[in-house]
Order: sequence, then C-alpha cells, then structure tokens
Amino acid sequence: MKIPFVDLKSQYESIKPEMDNAINRIISNTAFIGGNEVSEFEENFSKKYGVKHCISVGNGTDSLYIIMKMLGIGNGDEVITPANSWISSSETISQAGANPVFVDIEPEYYTMDPDKLESLINENTKAIMPVHLYGQMCDMDHIMAIAKKHNLFVIEDCAQSHFSEFNNQRAGLIGIAGSFSFYPGKNLGAYGDAGAIITNDDELAEKCRMYARHGALVKHEHKMEGINSRLDGIQAAVLNVKLKHILKWTDDRINNASKYDLHLRDIEEIRIPKIRPNTKHSFHLYVIRAEKRDKLADFLNENGIQTSVHYPTILPLLPAYNHLGFSEKDFSNSFEAQNEILSLPLYPELQEEQIKYVAEKICDFFK
Ligand SMILES: *Cc1c(COP(=O)(O)O)cnc(C)c1O
Repeated sequence: MKIPFVDLKSQYESIKPEMDNAINRIISNTAFIGGNEVSEFEENFSKKYGVKHCISVGNGTDSLYIIMKMLGIGNGDEVITPANSWISSSETISQAGANPVFVDIEPEYYTMDPDKLESLINENTKAIMPVHLYGQMCDMDHIMAIAKKHNLFVIEDCAQSHFSEFNNQRAGLIGIAGSFSFYPGKNLGAYGDAGAIITNDDELAEKCRMYARHGALVKHEHKMEGINSRLDGIQAAVLNVKLKHILKWTDDRINNASKYDLHLRDIEEIRIPKIRPNTKHSFHLYVIRAEKRDKLADFLNENGIQTSVHYPTILPLLPAYNHLGFSEKDFSNSFEAQNEILSLPLYPELQEEQIKYVAEKICDFFK
C-alpha cells in the first residue's frame, strides 16, 4: 500500500466540478486581482469564523509581518515566539525590525511554555506570538494573563490551527489578531500561496488592509508607503469553494486522529499526541514520538508510507540564528522533541484501512 504524506489530489477529485467551475469563472471574467471573489471570501471567512474583520493577503508569512508592523513593533523591540515552529514565526519579527526571542516548549503539547515566558520579558518586549502548532492550542489563559500583566500584544500564529478552539474560543480570536496561512497543504488550502489576518479591532484592521494594499484603501490615495500583499481571484475562488467543506474536513481530520490513537496506543515504544484539556485540536499534523525516529521513518518509507518531521531543527539552532549563540541546553524540551517527533500521514480523505496499515507497520518495526 502506498500512503503519501499529503493527498491533495483525492480532495480535488471529491469537489472537481464545483472547483473547475469556480476557477473557469475567474478566467472568463479575467478577475485575476481583486474583484468580487476576494471580497466574498473575506466576508465568508469572517462569518464562518465569527470575527469582525478578515483581511486577505498574499501568504501566511506576510500576515504576521503586517500585523506586527501595524502594531508599531519595530527597531529595538522584542517579540517572544516558540523555539519549535516554522521560520515564518521568527523571520517576520526580524523583518519588522524587532528581535525574536525564543521560548522553550511544553514537552507534551509542543507549544510555548508559559512558565518560561516571564523570565524573558524586559522593557523592550512588545508582544508574544504563540503558535498553535500541529493544530494544538497554546495555553492561552496563562499566556493572556502574562500579556495583560506586562501590557504586551498577543499575536496568534494560526497557520496550523484553522478552527481549533481553546475553552470554546477559536484560534486567532483570543489575542489582538490572528494570522492564517492557506498554503495548499494547510487545513484550509488554496491552489497557490494565500493568507489572511483576522481581528476584532477596527483600527488595526484598517491599518493592515491599507498597508497590504500599497498604503491606499482607495486607488491612488496613498496615505503611507505599504507593500503589495494580495489574495488573487483564482485563490479566492478556490477558498470560497473549500470553505463550504471545511468544518466537515476538520471533523474528518479529528476522527482520523482518534482512529490513529486507537490503533497506536498500545505500542509502548511510541508516544501518541496528547490533547490539551478543554481544547479542540484541529490536527493539521498527527505527530508521534519515538526514540528511534529516523530508523522508524526509513522503515515506513520502505513500506510505502511517507512521513515528515516538523521540524528537524528548532529555530534557535538553525544557521540563520548562529549569531545568537544558542546551544541545545537553552531549549531542552524543544531539542529533545526535535530528535523524536514524526508526523504521520493525516488528511480528511485518509481511510481506516490506511490508518490500520500505518499502525501495523509501526508495530512490525518494533517487533
Ligand atoms: C505555514 C506556516 C506559516 C507561513 O505560511 P505561508 O503561507 O507559507 O507563508 C507561518 N507559521 C506557521 C507555524 C506555519 O506552519
């Protein structure tokens, strides 16, 4: 049996006529940039998500950068983000002119450890950027309390947590703003690059929209210099089609994750994901832990099962951050996880027999 790590094709096939129509309509109308489809997506997404403003942008990296820039974060400021994430979380802090400060993760949930936050806060700290990694919510109660005490912005990186919830509140609605990626492999994925900012703050929403559109809300009326970061018509059409299915697909992901749990929980040599109490984990990724991770991954690959590692090197130990002079000991939980985590194939279309096959092969490996 061959099981790819992600299978975008079977999803496309399940909605082909609807999707082909939507894309063809954009081409016939030559509505390539801007237009109804884009504003409809912003409206549809805000409604479905339960937020006042949705500002579509070019990708989920721009959205983080734009939020920070429009919050006035810049030179000399510090923003705290987890050691285990995708580089967008930290590179955008530098792009805004500020300095990324890394915090270790909680060993069982893989998200930023609030207990280690406070010792990193000083007079330069302006914001905390929690990343709801793999679809797992951070401990937002704790993080929000610390932010409030020190008067810091909380910017949620929701690139992996569409429709995740913490105490019945959706990801991105707890801090000042949420940043989404619609990269094709994300839970809600376009057919190219795409992203969005959500916020209930009117002023921040207007600033972000203006900045992403060359500093002008009305053509030729540039109130400031901005950047060009837009969702194009075709991506908006794709997302409008997919938005109709997203809640079911999210449920299917969650169901598939519990099937994995069922088939894997008796294998002593691995640890299955633990879900934080009172949260909804949207399972962008199903990440197990094993000491012999690399050998296990090779074995699965030989048996037709593709896996991945998110991420093989924690951010502070990447060559890009050599100048900060960190060592493994500075982020011990993150570093330990880095060498043991393994992401198994997980998508809404994954079948139970495929899940069983993956579990069987993991069992075989440890026999
Ligand atoms: C995917 C991702 C991003 C960036 O999104 P792009 O749309 O690829 O720019 C940011 N943060 C995290 C945690 C991500 O997984």
